[in-house]
Amino acid sequence: MERDGFAIPLNGLAHEKWKSGLHVGKEFFEKFGNTEISDASLQVTLEAWKSGSSVLVDCLAEGSISVPCDRCLDLVSIPVDVSAGLRIRFGNVSGDDKEEDEGEREVVTLEEAVPEYDMSQVVYDYVCLSLPARRMHPEGGCNKEMLGYLKSGITLPGGDGGSEESPFSVLNGIFNS
Ligand SMILES: [Zn+2]
Repeated sequence: MERDGFAIPLNGLAHEKWKSGLHVGKEFFEKFGNTEISDASLQVTLEAWKSGSSVLVDCLAEGSISVPCDRCLDLVSIPVDVSAGLRIRFGNVSGDDKEEDEGEREVVTLEEAVPEYDMSQVVYDYVCLSLPARRMHPEGGCNKEMLGYLKSGITLPGGDGGSEESPFSVLNGIFNS
């Protein structure tokens, strides 16, 4: 019953859980046009089952992604551990069914009968939202050479004969060494 790993087969779901496990790499994020994520290794687990006239979906993404550090620009690995719950409702079904509603689920209403629901956008959104606003190495873990250069770009080195050097000459030193 497993087709594309992200597509939940809405028709034919039973009360027993449908499960899908898949590995997500950086190509997944590239597909969404995200070039900030330089590397990714995530294990995504999807579970879906029928509850009344709704379909409930549990989604879990665990692993790590790598993005440039805000401080030194080297890659920093960020652990990811997100879970999301969805309740897919069908617009053509009248009445509220409140059963098994833990109140934590994001409700998705589908106006038309579609054979499957693609979870890849949901997974992408949740993973991106889980990333911290500031992505940095722990204190002391940054690339010191790069930090030195970046710092010198802001406060120019003072007075020992090097004051006429272009800031880029510092960069040459880094890449030739
Ligand atoms: Zn850093």
